[in-house]
Amino acid sequence: MKAFTYERPATVLDAARLAAERPNAKFIAGGTNLLDLMKLQVETPATLIDVNRLPLDKVEDTADGGLRIGALVRNADLAAHPRVRRDYAVLSQALLAGASGQLRNKATTAGNLLQRTRCYYFYDTSKPCNKREPGSGCAAVGGFNRIMAVLGASDACIATNPSDMNVALRALDATVETASPNGATRAIPMDRFHRLPGDTPQVETDLQRGEIITAVTLPKPVAGLHVYRKVRDRASYAFATVSVAAVLGQMNGRITQARLAFGGLAHRPWRVEAAEEALVRTGQADAAADAVLAGARGYGSNDFKIPLTRRTLRAVVTEATRA
Ligand code: SF4
Repeated sequence: MKAFTYERPATVLDAARLAAERPNAKFIAGGTNLLDLMKLQVETPATLIDVNRLPLDKVEDTADGGLRIGALVRNADLAAHPRVRRDYAVLSQALLAGASGQLRNKATTAGNLLQRTRCYYFYDTSKPCNKREPGSGCAAVGGFNRIMAVLGASDACIATNPSDMNVALRALDATVETASPNGATRAIPMDRFHRLPGDTPQVETDLQRGEIITAVTLPKPVAGLHVYRKVRDRASYAFATVSVAAVLGQMNGRITQARLAFGGLAHRPWRVEAAEEALVRTGQADAAADAVLAGARGYGSNDFKIPLTRRTLRAVVTEATRA
């Protein structure tokens, strides 16, 4: 690991200013992803800004019946929170499907939003990777790409977003709140927070230099069955090959409203509103899958993800209509 400067600011504004002023600075909270990347020298920050003491660890009801989740709320605490379990169960399920108990005790809401891809070549500094080293190439396109994207990829990068939590937040129409070094605040809808790779896969989110995540806000809950189904290579401590976060309303065995987001398929959580409309209109999971998978492309080792997505969605819809 390379030497770095360590800072522990007392306020959100101080943290944002430090991040803006210092070249190659990184925020650290749980460190469950960043420290691994530093040990491999994939990340080599000159300054680490420890945000653990900032007052961002509360879960609070909002005036409109929603929920505001502080950036530093630990994944384990969020999964166990009574309102999350009752009103946003898909989020609780997604969090509990991720990582291990020890990691969930450390990992934070903001850190989970920002976790980096698990592309093998991103972690292997002997291989070309446009995300790690822009312009160097992409070893995954012609290499082993079992865990890579089948939607929204580019010639520059076919990596996926590894988070389970992000998929549930996308289905729940969450908003990411931020603060900037000049004191301004922003609310970024989840559908705009993560980017597709395009020609700049190293730019993964809409965050600007120095901007710090302060909270995630969930709107008033919608009624329906909440399901997070994760397909993976082993029963725990594994990333999704395909996952579905669903909130499905049903009456007499018929789907009356649907929200569907998918993980393991793209550089960001994947949601296609036309798929939700197709599911409500036809009641057929395959009609929704056709809309979700429009334009899907495999790269060899990951071709299986396309039929697997369809089958996983069928299983979720079957579970909902039998409930
Ligand atoms: Fe790097 Fe993206 Fe290619 Fe993986 S898929 S090697 S992260 S550029």
